[in-house]
Amino acid sequence: MSCSSNPSHPVAIIGAGPVGLAAAAHAVLRGLTPILFERGAAVGASLRDWAHVRVFTPWSLNIDHAARTLLEDTGWAAPDDAAVPTGGEIVRSYLEPLAAHPRLAPHLRLGAEVLAVTRRGTDKLTTSGRADAPFVVSWRDGDGTEHRTPAQAVLDASGTWFTPNPMGADGLAVPGERAAADRIAYGIPDVRGAARASYVGVTTMVVGSGHSAMNVVLDLLTLREQAPGTRVLWALRWNRLARLLGGGLNDQLPARGALGIAATRAIEDGRLELLSPYAAERVERAADGLRIAGLLGDQPHEARVQRVVVATGLRPDLSFLRELRVDLDPLMEAPPKLAPLIDPNLHSCGTVPPHGVEELTHPEPGFYVVGGKSYGRAPTFLMATGYEQVRSVVAEIAGDHAAARDIHLVLPETGVCSSDPVFGDERETTDRCCGAQAPAETSAPAGCCAGSA
Ligand SMILES: Cc1cc2nc3c(=O)[nH]c(=O)nc-3n(C[C@H](O)[C@H](O)[C@H](O)COP(=O)(O)OP(=O)(O)OC[C@H]3O[C@@H](n4cnc5c(N)ncnc54)[C@H](O)[C@@H]3O)c2cc1C
Repeated sequence: MSCSSNPSHPVAIIGAGPVGLAAAAHAVLRGLTPILFERGAAVGASLRDWAHVRVFTPWSLNIDHAARTLLEDTGWAAPDDAAVPTGGEIVRSYLEPLAAHPRLAPHLRLGAEVLAVTRRGTDKLTTSGRADAPFVVSWRDGDGTEHRTPAQAVLDASGTWFTPNPMGADGLAVPGERAAADRIAYGIPDVRGAARASYVGVTTMVVGSGHSAMNVVLDLLTLREQAPGTRVLWALRWNRLARLLGGGLNDQLPARGALGIAATRAIEDGRLELLSPYAAERVERAADGLRIAGLLGDQPHEARVQRVVVATGLRPDLSFLRELRVDLDPLMEAPPKLAPLIDPNLHSCGTVPPHGVEELTHPEPGFYVVGGKSYGRAPTFLMATGYEQVRSVVAEIAGDHAAARDIHLVLPETGVCSSDPVFGDERETTDRCCGAQAPAETSAPAGCCAGSA
């Protein structure tokens, strides 16, 4: 349905990452008024966190069509379609100019954290009149003042980057993990750049078995060449290292193969200590850092480290959706129609079909989760997929139901696909095959599927 019952209200978009900004671009081109809430002080807050990481998709796949249309009117210097940018380059060359566009800038609220979404005068239990009641977005500005903004529709494009999975193999933080937060980093810290001082010359345990963990490990090994006191323990929950490293010389993607070769060599010559299969059980403070108690296979294991990097995947923050009628697959935490299409337990790369409003519809009319968050816990999201999602959803909101259902995502035949455990999801799945982030200085894109497109 369209949300024409409240057409005078703006379309609220939560999150000014690549997908939220693209949604705003589609909205203005369709004559709708967006209001874009971004918690960070600037757009692209997630990508700024991994600004040093080179992605694996080229610019041609990283720029939304509506966004490009807007930008091309401004004398914007479009990046080379074939080049592969870092997270930081995506922010500088694309997201910042887009956010500054005169048709978008007035609608952007920075430092605006969405706290909750509901329907005006209508709690979750109330059905009568629900669909006609405008949404109400509760948000807090940078001064701490709370506001309520009505909206005709809501797109939640808040991503999953800021809700990483914890260290525990059971999905929980292990005892002591929270208390040791000052020595634990989640994600892909820039261990050779901004965060170097914390990692040089000390022992770091990297937890996670995806390519993101592998990138951190290799960056630490580079640091070790400069400062031999730097020690690296790599803790993997599953012994799927052969698959992870197995690309090697046979890998179709040179940069990913290079990562695998470098890691294999490091293990062989003892520069990298491998703990696998490993499960952390407890973190305790020690005089010189942390004591990590865990199980290596079925044997108790103790490690003394100064730092821990956890790269075990991401999960969506569902807390501010509590008053909405949201239907999620219990496994993926994605809409039930979308979940089977993206489940990495079932799908190898290239088999995630294009999708749009039909798959993203919730029992709450006019509410959609889009972008990385729409995939819930599945680590298989691509920006290009999100751009097609918001093209479809915004067409639906504008009442163009035919365009909304004319799904036509085209991934060029570069072999790029979306099944990388990009942030180190650790489940032992069947056939995830692709993707890695190359370190920023790696010239070739890392992370494509053999034989998929
Ligand atoms: C290391 C890495 C490499 C990747 N490489 C690729 C690649 O090569 N190709 C590809 O296509 N994809 C890649 N991805 C996947 C995906 O494209 C990115 O994660 C992308 O950033 C997702 O965009 P998004 O707009 O959905 O979410 P995000 O970029 O995460 O943006 C969400 C925004 O919402 C804001 N926000 C969160 N909560 C709130 C709130 N309550 N109120 C207001 N604002 C809020 C955040 O501050 C953030 O700015 C990669 C991901 C990672 C982590």
